Amino acid sequence: MTSSRIILLALIAAFFGAFFYFDLGHYLTLDTLKTQQSAIESYRAESPRLAVAIYAIIYIAVTGLSLPGAAILTLAGGAVFGVLWGTLIVSFASSIGATLAFLAARFLFRDGVKVKFGSRLKAIDEGVAKEGGFYLFTLRLVPIFPFFMINLLMGLTTMKTWTFYSVSQIGMLAGTAVYVNAGTQLAKIDSLSGILSPALLGSFVLLGFFPLMAKKLINVMEAKKVYKNYKKPKKFDNNIIVIGGGAAGLVTSYIAAAVKAKVTLIEKHKMGGDCLNTGCVPSKAIIKSGQLLATAKRSKEFGIKEMHAEFEFSEVMDRVQHVVAQVAPHDSVERYTELGVDVLVGAAKIISPWEVEVKTAAGVETISARSIVIAAGARPFVPPIPGLDKIDYLTSDNVWSLREQPKRMLVLGGGPIGCELAQSFNRLGVQVTQVEMAPRLMMREDVDVSEVVTAKFIKEGIDVRLEHTAKEFIVEQGEKILIADYSGEQVRIVFDQVLLAIGRVANTTGYGLEELGVQLSERRTVEINAFQETNFPNIFACGDVSGPYQFTHTAAHQAWYASVNALFGNFKKFKTDYSIIPWATFTDPEVARVGLNEQEAKEQEIAYEISHYGIDDLDRAIADGTAHGFVKVLTVPGKDKILGVTIVGEHSGDLIAEFVLAMKYNLGLNKVLATIHIYPTMAEANKYVAGVWKKNHQPKNLLAWVEKFHTWKRG
Ligand SMILES: Cc1cc2nc3c(=O)[nH]c(=O)nc-3n(C[C@H](O)[C@H](O)[C@H](O)COP(=O)(O)OP(=O)(O)OC[C@H]3O[C@@H](n4cnc5c(N)ncnc54)[C@H](O)[C@@H]3O)c2cc1C
Repeated sequence: MTSSRIILLALIAAFFGAFFYFDLGHYLTLDTLKTQQSAIESYRAESPRLAVAIYAIIYIAVTGLSLPGAAILTLAGGAVFGVLWGTLIVSFASSIGATLAFLAARFLFRDGVKVKFGSRLKAIDEGVAKEGGFYLFTLRLVPIFPFFMINLLMGLTTMKTWTFYSVSQIGMLAGTAVYVNAGTQLAKIDSLSGILSPALLGSFVLLGFFPLMAKKLINVMEAKKVYKNYKKPKKFDNNIIVIGGGAAGLVTSYIAAAVKAKVTLIEKHKMGGDCLNTGCVPSKAIIKSGQLLATAKRSKEFGIKEMHAEFEFSEVMDRVQHVVAQVAPHDSVERYTELGVDVLVGAAKIISPWEVEVKTAAGVETISARSIVIAAGARPFVPPIPGLDKIDYLTSDNVWSLREQPKRMLVLGGGPIGCELAQSFNRLGVQVTQVEMAPRLMMREDVDVSEVVTAKFIKEGIDVRLEHTAKEFIVEQGEKILIADYSGEQVRIVFDQVLLAIGRVANTTGYGLEELGVQLSERRTVEINAFQETNFPNIFACGDVSGPYQFTHTAAHQAWYASVNALFGNFKKFKTDYSIIPWATFTDPEVARVGLNEQEAKEQEIAYEISHYGIDDLDRAIADGTAHGFVKVLTVPGKDKILGVTIVGEHSGDLIAEFVLAMKYNLGLNKVLATIHIYPTMAEANKYVAGVWKKNHQPKNLLAWVEKFHTWKRG
């Protein structure tokens, strides 16, 4: 805690202490007010302005410090100043006091709460940003919610101060008026509880919930509005129609079939989508060939004098296709048909919220369903760089058809796909230049991660060009050249093939979304709510087409929610759980992550501690010749709570699984440390990093006493 916070806390504590020590509370009772009423009134008659100022200051101090007595003060306002002036003064004083309490809570506790509740607080903040004013209004309108509690709790959120002040003032007005009015009849009041009759309280509750109910009603009506131009079929052919047979679509239909729903899956190209045909599977296959060649080059390190690796580029690329073919049966039409899914091979077009037109080889047919799940994936982004259209560029879609080894390859993009493919092609004997606009590769990861990967790339001979912005492609005397901007200077990079790997765009056009009016997000993905629902409550989306993540495992994860909500949403809807999302980039060294890294923690102002273990020290890594990389764990300062883990090194994508489980089930590093890890394995790195954390949190004082005990025992 900073010194300014400590001072403020001490001041508040002192006021609190004084209030109770000197029993100032007895001035704020009904009896005192009644007995002092005439004295106060005569003072007000003598010095009206001063009376208002003193009253307001006391009111602000009591509410600002969250001291008991605000209700009595409000009654006093009515008794002394009358309904109109009383309401006006109390309205401003209570809102100012509330805002001071709100700001104090924010200043004192927001950071601490952020550290403790991290990602959960983020979700609350997002909710507050969207509908916080609404909820605050409800809370203010219903005087059964304690005034001081609302001030303090709202201070812990990101609600804007002005929103808090203005909504509070308007929301509290009715309650204030009731109390002030009661104050004008002070003599008739015996207790505070009598002021609000059950009927009046009921009316406030109704009034408070009215805006919420109205909002819900508007939402329902808006949801219904989207259907107004369409006639809902009386009967449906299916419970669900799924568009797209990639990871998202396959899992959606698998789950639907497993719970005995009638589901039709439509795929226009190849079952398995990107992951199987042009993404994860072929990229991992080519990575393996590259790894083998890279290991062969290091044979001397393993005591093998000479290891000659001869290969044909085209044969390596053929093997990639063999791997795809071997995995393909997992995602095939036959397998899914056996599972109970009706698979149609053809292009789908949504023609109404319940109907899909399918163009198959046999013709066009229209099928219907209660719900539709859009799982149409994404495609490589092709940037509008002048001259690109005159060049036969490659993307992750068509690079797999290369059979002739390019001499020089330009890889545009330093993200995961660009890095995996740049390293693989380089290892396959292609002279690779990797161009990245940002100051480092893998910008989403921490600087130390980028540094390790970049150093390895450079060591292996990749020409890594950072802070280079592609400006134009030209062809001069048959040579393809990229003109890039580097610190204001023009740089020319000559190449034979260019591979574009600068992001992916969701497939949202050409199959009815525009005509229907399915809303898109700012990122041009299909806009979904927390339940995977689009603006049509019976149309859902999942996977790359909706994001926010673009991984096979997140597509599958979302698919469960899309399928279950589409089928059973009438009874219960489930919000997609994004709390623990892991991923890996399969470069050498591999990079895996779950939860926060340092740069994200800093951006989100979340305090953290680091436990770092260098894999260069690990027995198995030394034996395997893979002694490099690290495990970095971020924890809540002073607490055994994992905020995030980054692992750089061999098999990090596998090693991270232990931390994914730990985070998911809220297990700390003590639990990881207390788990037996097989010797000698790479997984021991996880135990050792937990050991680093434990060592840094040794109970030093206790150990000093234990040492004394041992000394005493020795006599
Ligand atoms: C090179 C590369 C490497 C990758 N490596 C990994 C990795 O290691 N790990 C990982 O988790 N992720 C990886 N990914 C990402 C992963 O491939 C995607 O996140 C995943 O494929 C998304 O699945 P999806 O079902 O949302 O979309 P897709 O797999 O793209 O499937 C969408 C399907 O919808 C079909 N479709 C579209 N429109 C229609 C229509 N109108 N009618 C009928 N069918 C239609 C398409 O033909 C396609 O088959 C990689 C991606 C690439 C490009």
